[in-house]
Amino acid sequence: MNRIYFDNAATTPLDKEVLDAMLPYLTTHFGNPSSIYSYGRETRLAIETARKTVAKLLNAHPGEIFFTSGGTESNNTAIASAVRDLGCKHIISSPIEHHAVLHTVEHYGSDDVTYSYVKLLSDGHVDLEDLEEQLASHEDRCLVTLMHANNEIGNLLDINAVGNLCKKYNAIFHSDCVQTVGHYPIDLRKTPVHFISGSGHKFHGPKGSGILYVNDNIKIHPFILGGGQERNMRAGTENLYGIVGFARALEIAMKDYEKDSAYIQSLKTYIIDALRKNMKCVSFNGDAEGKSLYTVVSASFPKTEKSEMILFNLDINHICASGGSACTSGADQGSHVIRAINNNPNLVTVRFSFSKYNTKEEIDTVVEKLKELV
Ligand code: PLP
Repeated sequence: MNRIYFDNAATTPLDKEVLDAMLPYLTTHFGNPSSIYSYGRETRLAIETARKTVAKLLNAHPGEIFFTSGGTESNNTAIASAVRDLGCKHIISSPIEHHAVLHTVEHYGSDDVTYSYVKLLSDGHVDLEDLEEQLASHEDRCLVTLMHANNEIGNLLDINAVGNLCKKYNAIFHSDCVQTVGHYPIDLRKTPVHFISGSGHKFHGPKGSGILYVNDNIKIHPFILGGGQERNMRAGTENLYGIVGFARALEIAMKDYEKDSAYIQSLKTYIIDALRKNMKCVSFNGDAEGKSLYTVVSASFPKTEKSEMILFNLDINHICASGGSACTSGADQGSHVIRAINNNPNLVTVRFSFSKYNTKEEIDTVVEKLKELV
């Protein structure tokens, strides 16, 4: 059975070269990085080398990179720290963030901390005028948490414009970059941001590996208490092979960026053209052909008795796609993102997301199948 995997925004397969880099740290190089003898010294060196690699690729200082368990932990930490340590009394976010941000904002935005959402333009982009008005209307310090790229519709944020507004109003800026770290060159020395989150499994690295970038100019307190790991900030024996895998995956992603991004963009253009040609009823969500991730296409079709079962039927036909984020795959309870940008109960939505391992032939097969299923 040949399966077609078009859900790379949910997760990606591990690259063979990444596995090769990790394997010694699952077998022979097993020392606890905190141990002082040779086993420990060799694994400590692997972690610090990984940190330097990641920092260099993102143009940050090694001291600004903290290894975490993934995007969710990084988002939680950034938001919690901004409220607890940096004096943020109001949080500005958007209704189309990942739940790892939305639920955290709701959690911390209670009692003496408030929160609000920016307005969205009709194509799903953040209304920067509204953001500025909201920043100007708060005397207390704000935290702005806005994602760099939306995982469901692909819209890309002008992270520099948002960062500059935050600077103007002395706000703290966190960006969930889970869909862009490893997919775009990011130069943190030139990007006005205090925190970014990244996740290894979105670019052919291991699951359960991530980073939180914390700009040197801000000082936050430890986020997990215990031992002195991660320079006293995140206690617990390090996810050694995950960290090694994260760094190797990022290295490969950045080395091959030009080639891979052009190829994946060509797949995106190809499926949009093929769907338009073959299915007149299709519409695309967000700014699909404008400022948008090259990996993601969100397509909607009229809701009928048949099309309502589309994800289920794609699955039966060995095609893996989702209705939105990973949590809504399969049993589609409707996506908060799609609801926020196009509140149309008469449509069903499918997200296709691609990697370097997909082909145009797979797209042809999927489009043929969709003609039967819609
Ligand atoms: N943020 C975004 C935009 C995501 O797409 C995801 C993963 O689906 C996450 C955060 C959570 O990342 P992780 O799975 O590494 O916890």
